[in-house]
Amino acid sequence: MTTTTPNQATTAESSPTSSADHGATRTALVTGASSGIGEDTARRLQALGCIVYGAARRTDRLQALAAGGIRPLAMDVTDDASVTAGVNRILEETGRIDILVNNAGYGSYGAIEDVPIDEARRQFEVNVFGLARLTQLITPHMRTQGSGTIINISSMGGKLTTPLGGWYHATKYAVEALSDALRMELRPFGIDVVVVEPGGIRTEWASIAADHLEATAEGSAYADQIRAVAGAMRSESNNRRYSPPEVIARTVGRIVTARRPRTRYAVGFMAKPLIAARRVLPDRAFDQLIGAAFGFRR
Ligand code: NDP
Repeated sequence: MTTTTPNQATTAESSPTSSADHGATRTALVTGASSGIGEDTARRLQALGCIVYGAARRTDRLQALAAGGIRPLAMDVTDDASVTAGVNRILEETGRIDILVNNAGYGSYGAIEDVPIDEARRQFEVNVFGLARLTQLITPHMRTQGSGTIINISSMGGKLTTPLGGWYHATKYAVEALSDALRMELRPFGIDVVVVEPGGIRTEWASIAADHLEATAEGSAYADQIRAVAGAMRSESNNRRYSPPEVIARTVGRIVTARRPRTRYAVGFMAKPLIAARRVLPDRAFDQLIGAAFGFRR
């Protein structure tokens, strides 16, 4: 495997563009580009003039992006060799990485008691350690460039918790904490770290989360809760209320073109009101609000 050195990034400093001057040829990597938020974000960054790499495991689902000039990258964020090879390829081809959008993720739903601990570990491998490993591989190059923007797609679920989502929320709370630490650590090197906290977004996320949840149902003591939460996840009327993924893509576009982006963007269906409710309500009052939303009996 070809290894990259910081010198490759240094060579690229002679490029006419850099993250700081918002020029036309910044290189961006978007994970989870085969669907939903990542797919729209890859298109948005390309429309802004970036060279965009779209990464995912299902490369067949990257073909439409590839037809439009986005460079497909086979990557499983839980596989160190695949992540390393992807980063090396980008550096070999473009000499730099200016924008990293850590977006790949899924919801492993189920009662804390029911989710096998190996599946809980996998949830962290994808949503937390995948994001962290990719970040570790890319920050040395951004430091050498003296610029870069890392955008971590967290969730409103990184600020509040719902029943049967404990493992998922734990990963997103972890993303929030890692992002805060990274922002402080990387500021001296001219690298921005920004968190996006989507609300309900119309993608494949909810049906995948419902699949995971229903897989825990057999013999579960939480059958009533599982039915209620899975029903809400599969509800067509809920789905219609969700925001389209373009709202997150546009937010990412605003972040990468801002002179000084905010540290956090809560965007999409119910993100702002629910985060505000969690902030002001006492724990038990918030529990009641969420329980009532799912129709839980007291
Ligand atoms: P989708 O299910 O539509 O897309 C998820 C993407 O993640 C897919 O491209 C998938 O690609 C990729 N992915 C999953 N596992 C891996 C893996 N091991 N390695 C590499 N890629 C992987 O969901 P969204 O677009 O909605 O989700 C994007 C992000 O937004 C996630 O982090 C999610 O938690 C977050 N989010 C979503 C919300 C929503 O309501 N939709 C709300 C709040 C946050 P592939 O399977 O091909 O590898």
